[in-house]
Amino acid sequence: MASELRRASTEVDAVTANHLLTHRRELHAVPELSFKEFETSRYLVERLDALSPDRLEAGVAGTGIVADVKGARPGRAVLVRADIDGLPIQEAGELAFRSTHRGVMHACGHDVHMAIALEVARVLAERRAELSGMVRFVFQPAEERAGGAAPMIEAGVLDGIDRVIGLHVWSELPVGQVSVRAGAMMAGADMFTLTIRGLGGHGAQPQFAVDAVVIAAQIVNALQTLASRETAPAAPIVITLGSVHGGTAANIVAGEVVIQGTLRTLDPALRTHVVRRIAELAEGIATAMRGHCEFKLESAAPPVINDGPVAAMVADAARGVVGEGAVVAFEPLMVGEDFAYFLQARPGCFFLLGGAPEGPRVGHHTPEFRIDERCLSIGFRVMTAAVLRLLQD
Ligand SMILES: [Zn+2]
Ligand SMILES: [Zn+2]
Repeated sequence: MASELRRASTEVDAVTANHLLTHRRELHAVPELSFKEFETSRYLVERLDALSPDRLEAGVAGTGIVADVKGARPGRAVLVRADIDGLPIQEAGELAFRSTHRGVMHACGHDVHMAIALEVARVLAERRAELSGMVRFVFQPAEERAGGAAPMIEAGVLDGIDRVIGLHVWSELPVGQVSVRAGAMMAGADMFTLTIRGLGGHGAQPQFAVDAVVIAAQIVNALQTLASRETAPAAPIVITLGSVHGGTAANIVAGEVVIQGTLRTLDPALRTHVVRRIAELAEGIATAMRGHCEFKLESAAPPVINDGPVAAMVADAARGVVGEGAVVAFEPLMVGEDFAYFLQARPGCFFLLGGAPEGPRVGHHTPEFRIDERCLSIGFRVMTAAVLRLLQD
């Protein structure tokens, strides 16, 4: 590896430190919702264009961007993915660079991901004479709705790519630490809707009605037995029914109840099984109670499964940056990530970047979400070192 490039992954100069902070803060101030990342996309394109990339394409799958940096020497082709959307949350707190878009917030840290990817792109583009292989930077819309990855892949962003890499800043992992895990590291996320139909009627004459609320109550309880009674305790699954709506008044038997839920699993075979069982159980109970139930799988992302050898190389590169003891095993997370689609198609690795702020725990997807900005330069160095490693080995 050429010395100039190696230096980029071992130290962060003032220019890079400044770029990382500026990008992160400017992007934090203008968060946009999934597939509406127009201003964000313009910001990214302007800065990428200044690097004279070997290819720059905007408007991929809506608001996505692809930029290629080709090295002068032969090597592998590595795709670096950053997601770009915010969330429908009103930011709390008084940060100087807080969201200027009412009701929208970078409450998951995608501003951090963009800042790091932009700066890695700049540093590699400036030194492409020393670079072996090709790095493709993919800025993906709509991660939060799990809707952006698949159309970008359909648009061909994986063509010619050997390996894929991405990161997620994590507010529960101490800053300075990085977690790289071989195999499943984030869950498959399925969203589903159960529409239960009975027969409405007078609240005082249940014998002429089929009460959808009572059917729904049985289904709510029964679905939890899939986690507690039908699947192995060591194979984690989560079934959360986050929304139950039905009925109109205290003295009217509800004819319809709609339940919305999510299923999280780490194992693709278990996921297929439980999806089928949710439908069977709900439909069976509804039918047994003289009603009907319609199951609809609304959206889904498979589990995030890292390739063993690629994860080992990324962990090794990370140890070179943060030290042996700071590359930790973090329990697999039951949250979903549509980077899973990239990993289904190519060997790769998704890793967690510690970003825990000082003070009490803050969760992702909350108005209080914050990160410790020291994670920016760490993330930049780990990503740079990992990409250089994946290009060559
Ligand atoms: Zn998120
Ligand atoms: Zn996220």
